[in-house]
Amino acid sequence: MKPVASSARECDRPVPRRTRTFRPNYLSFAGTYQCNLTCPHCCVPIEWPDRLDIRVALRFLNDAHAYGIRILGFTGGEPFLYPEFLVALSRRAARLDFRFDKIVTNGVWFKNERHLRDTLLDLKKAGYSGKLGLSVDKFHGVRTSDLATFCSTAREIFQRDNVVSLSYASRDSEMGFDLIERLAQELGAVIEWSNLLRRFLVVSPELTMTVNWNHLAPVERAEGLGAAWDGVWFQEDYCEGPGQALIVNPKGEVKPCCGFASDLDQLTIGNINTDSVADIVRRARKHPYVGKVFRKGLTAIRNEILARDPGALPAATSNHCFFCWHVLTRGLAEGVSGGGGQIGAWTGHRPNFESELVQIGTHKTSAPRR
Ligand code: SF4
Ligand code: SF4
Repeated sequence: MKPVASSARECDRPVPRRTRTFRPNYLSFAGTYQCNLTCPHCCVPIEWPDRLDIRVALRFLNDAHAYGIRILGFTGGEPFLYPEFLVALSRRAARLDFRFDKIVTNGVWFKNERHLRDTLLDLKKAGYSGKLGLSVDKFHGVRTSDLATFCSTAREIFQRDNVVSLSYASRDSEMGFDLIERLAQELGAVIEWSNLLRRFLVVSPELTMTVNWNHLAPVERAEGLGAAWDGVWFQEDYCEGPGQALIVNPKGEVKPCCGFASDLDQLTIGNINTDSVADIVRRARKHPYVGKVFRKGLTAIRNEILARDPGALPAATSNHCFFCWHVLTRGLAEGVSGGGGQIGAWTGHRPNFESELVQIGTHKTSAPRR
């Protein structure tokens, strides 16, 4: 679910334009990697049992607030498998006057309607006032009636017709919409295009749900889906399509990435167990890869790679996150070593041969992938 996730490159968190640099305005916690589903496109190590410590996360939330960050979201794994985390963090964030973005969820984690109702009620009482970002596509399975139950119950508990937003992942925005259509049918809703929002809406008498498309990056378990080298170069967005974010994973590691490479060690810019927000932002700006992505863009990284070795990339890709994950795992980007992403069992030797690796002073705490 990770690309916020499953999460993705939706830009609903505009970053004030000054000089280009890493300037996070958004905080997201993945309290757990674990999930009740095993989607074939998942880029999250859902088999890892780590969970974020609530007290440590609360301390970091306070620090983020003091730093000036005001928007909060949750991702996973499946965030609702760790509801006490959602409730505790939401309660504190509501007190601090954070604006809630969304909780990315598969919407089918509940045992029965009572369980669903009680969990959402606890969240509402804690002061959560954001959206529930429901992933609806073939990768998440066909459980349309459970998804409809989730939507109606959320509407009833939160008393907001826009409490649920939908997202689907596919290679092309024109593909993979069928399960959204099926859900609309189940809810007695119609699908309309909004010129204002530049996206589709699913509208019923009870619900108004925006539909967001996530450009699926075939990485990790989905590497075999292929077709990412589509011959077109991505349009530069300085990784601000997803927004400027501090994403905290269940190990406490902080990444600037809510996309598909968020579990690569190469993107670690700190750890909430040991570092302050100010330390992490400072380190991100100096980071040989992260600093450059936010300052000069992914195109600068692409140009450097191709100038060094015109044959280093198989073709062009329009998918930012796929490019990012590819060059990081293959060690093509200057200043960071390759590796990681072994679920797809990539091999090959094309190291970052022309520049020195830079010690950026982060602890490598994650266990190697099996
Ligand atoms: S819902 Fe699917 S994509 Fe999301 S974390 Fe679970 S297995 Fe991964
Ligand atoms: S471009 Fe890279 S750092 Fe940015 S969201 Fe995508 S995978 Fe993450």
